[in-house]
Amino acid sequence: AKRQGCGGYAIFDEPMHQQALQQLQIETDLRHALERGELCVYFQPIVALDHQGVQGFEALVRWQHPTLGLLSPAVFIPLAEDTGLILEMDFWVLETACKQLQAWQAAFPLGQPLTMNVNLSGRQFTRPDLLDRVDQVLQNTGIPGSCVKLEITETVLIENPQGVAVLLSELQERNIQVCLDDFGTGYSSLSYLNRFPVNQLKIDRSFVALLDTHSRESWEGQTRPSEQTEIVRAIANLAANLGLQVVAEGVENQEQLQYLQSIHCDSAQGYYFAPPLDSDGATEWLQQFLQ
Ligand code: C2E
Ligand code: CA
Ligand code: CA
Ligand code: CA
Repeated sequence: AKRQGCGGYAIFDEPMHQQALQQLQIETDLRHALERGELCVYFQPIVALDHQGVQGFEALVRWQHPTLGLLSPAVFIPLAEDTGLILEMDFWVLETACKQLQAWQAAFPLGQPLTMNVNLSGRQFTRPDLLDRVDQVLQNTGIPGSCVKLEITETVLIENPQGVAVLLSELQERNIQVCLDDFGTGYSSLSYLNRFPVNQLKIDRSFVALLDTHSRESWEGQTRPSEQTEIVRAIANLAANLGLQVVAEGVENQEQLQYLQSIHCDSAQGYYFAPPLDSDGATEWLQQFLQ
C-alpha cells in the first residue's frame, strides 16, 4: 500500500484495485449474462468402470464473457449464490442439459439410456417451488426422471436436515437420483448418510489426485498406501455397505483408474477420459467412443 498524507494508507495498490474493479464488472455483467445468452453448458463424460461403457455426462456451466473471455464457474458461481442469480442459472443449466440429453438419446440409442448429472446449489433447497421447477423441466424436455442425477454437497444436508430429507424423498418418487458431490471434503458425519435418501457418492478429486504411486512416493518417500488411498477405499466400502453407487472425479491417469477399479468403484470422470467439452465436442467424443 502507498503511504499517503496524514499518515493514512491508500486502500489498495494498483493490481488489487484492478482486481476489485474486475470483480465489480463481473458482478454487474452477471445480471445480464443469462438474458444475453452468454452462458453455455459444457459436458464431461462419465464412464462405467466394469465394462468401460459411457454412462452419461455431467453438465458444467461456463460464461462466455464479452471482454474477459471464457470464465470458469469458480469465478462466478459464488457471486451468483450471493446475489440469488444461481436460482435461475441452475434451472437454465438443467433445461439446457436435458434438451441436449434428449438429442443424444435419439441419436445414440443404447440399451441403458444416457444420463445427465446436473449440479444444484444448496440455495435451491430454500425455495418453495424447487419440485415444481424440476417437474416443469422434465415435462418440457420429455426426459424421464430416471435419466437425471442431481448433484448436491454434504453441507446441504447439515443446514436443513428435515426440509432436505422431505425434498430428497420427493425426488426419489420421480426416480431422480441424488448424488453427494465432493464427498469427503464436507463436515457431515457418516452417520448422517443413511438418514437421507441419496443414491450416489462422488469422491472428491483431491482424494483421487493422490491415488497413483508417483504421488504416494513423493508423499511418503516410499511406495506404500497413503492416508488418501485409505480414505478412498473407506468411502468405497462405506458406499457398498449402504447400497450406494460410488463415482470418482478427477481421474487423470491409468494408475488412478486401476486402483479405483480394484476397489470396485462404479464409475469415473476426468481428463483421462475427456475434459468438459462443448456440445459439438461431446457429440464427437460420443461418436468415437461408441464406434
Ligand atoms: P464440481 O461439481 O466438483 O465439478 C468438477 C470440476 O472438476 C469441474 O470444474 C471440472 O472441469 C473439473 N475436472 C474434471 N475433470 C478433471 C480432472 O481430471 N482433473 C482436474 N484437475 N479437474 C477436473 P469446473 O467446470 O470449473 O466447475 C467448478 C465447480 O463449479 C463445479 O465443481 C461445481 O461445484 C460448480 N458448478 C459448475 N457448474 C455448475 C452449475 O450449473 N450449477 C452450480 N450450482 N454449480 C456449478
Ligand atoms: Ca459436480
Ligand atoms: Ca465434485
Ligand atoms: Ca467441487
